[in-house]
Amino acid sequence: MKSAKGTRDLLADECRQFQQVESWALQHFSRYGFQEIRTPIFEETALFVRGIGDETDIVSKEMYQLTTKGGDELTLRPEMTASVCRAVIQHNLLANDDLLRFIYMGPMFRYERPQAGRYRQFHQLGAEVFGSDDPLVEVETIEAVLSFLSPFQLPNLTLRLNSVGDSSDRPAYLAYLRQELDTHSGQLCQDCTRRKETNVLRVLDCKNEACRAVLDRLHPISTFWSTTTRDHFEAVCRGLDRLSISYVLDPMLVRGLDYYTRTAFELQSGELGAQSAVLGGGRYDNLVATLGGPDTPAFGWALGLDRLVGLLAARKALPEQRPHLFFIFSQREQLEEFLPLLARLRAGGHSVQFDLRLGSFKSQMKRANRLQARYCAIVGERECQGGTVTLKDMDQSSQREVPQDHLPAVMKEVCPC
Ligand code: ATP
Ligand code: MG
Repeated sequence: MKSAKGTRDLLADECRQFQQVESWALQHFSRYGFQEIRTPIFEETALFVRGIGDETDIVSKEMYQLTTKGGDELTLRPEMTASVCRAVIQHNLLANDDLLRFIYMGPMFRYERPQAGRYRQFHQLGAEVFGSDDPLVEVETIEAVLSFLSPFQLPNLTLRLNSVGDSSDRPAYLAYLRQELDTHSGQLCQDCTRRKETNVLRVLDCKNEACRAVLDRLHPISTFWSTTTRDHFEAVCRGLDRLSISYVLDPMLVRGLDYYTRTAFELQSGELGAQSAVLGGGRYDNLVATLGGPDTPAFGWALGLDRLVGLLAARKALPEQRPHLFFIFSQREQLEEFLPLLARLRAGGHSVQFDLRLGSFKSQMKRANRLQARYCAIVGERECQGGTVTLKDMDQSSQREVPQDHLPAVMKEVCPC
């Protein structure tokens, strides 16, 4: 038996990398006032259809939809923004605090063609801010995610930025697009011929060469921007400039979900090949109201954790977790006698291991080396009689005898945690 297509097991190394990224995320984003939110893995299908838009790829092709025995229409969440909005509305959270900041992490599900960096169950880390349409929300939240990423030192990251306008200017642009594309309909790929009717903005990110040739001759959306859209976008850019954050203006950037208004952005890595997007997001000022809540401007992004961890693993950017101390025993009775000391060391924060099978000294030492233990505590006949252990520094190849009772204090000194 194998795991289902497009899903995978995260084994020890990868789990550790996920844990490190996730705990850093909680720590980092709390500095900005983001609080964690966890919503159910599945929701009523209508939430995603209304929220994401039924002509989007996600809703029309990628959703894991099911009808329960009781007749409920449910869907495994393909993203979490709609769920977070639903939770905000359901619990009336804006009544207590009209500026809310959330982060979330967890698995999402999309029925896609699996390939490197693209899975059917994948993980996102995301942030959402509700309650302000100030361009500084974009500036602060983009800065927050870039400084979250900065310790990982990912090279070749490009921030791409655009504004997709809002109800004051987008309809005119869509009409223009449709009209232009109608006159070139013979040159468009099948997908674009359909999108032209159903979700014309999506034509802009078609990769097909013939479509690109048509698109490159069209006016960008910026020529249709209203003064409000333009002012907002320029304020976002000014804020990023002030923080010395570099970005590329990408007039063709649109996002795969219908709910975006005004600012849209993506972060791409030159090291990810075809699946180059590390994260994407934007402003969605109408979504809360669309889902039945109060009129609430909002902004957010979602980052692909599998792609981020993949980049880190490829560059070995995360340190290996080494056991602090590996015990080597010559007798089973010693092991039993030492259990309370092992518990004390672990309670003091140390990672402590030993080989339960107690093979030869050599085989135990081999395991200590394989795990890259920082120190070894050797407990032989002599040490037992003297109430000591021999503490071996595996990096320096030096050793000394330490009274058993002193071991927690010595470890605290040589291996602070
Ligand atoms: P893509 O263009 O790669 O399909 P998207 O626009 O569908 O991305 P979003 O919905 O914006 O992606 O999700 C945000 C991030 O989640 C992406 O930038 C990517 O890193 C990650 N992501 C999206 N779909 C998948 C997937 N099937 N497998 C792994 N990661 C994914
Ligand atoms: Mg996609």
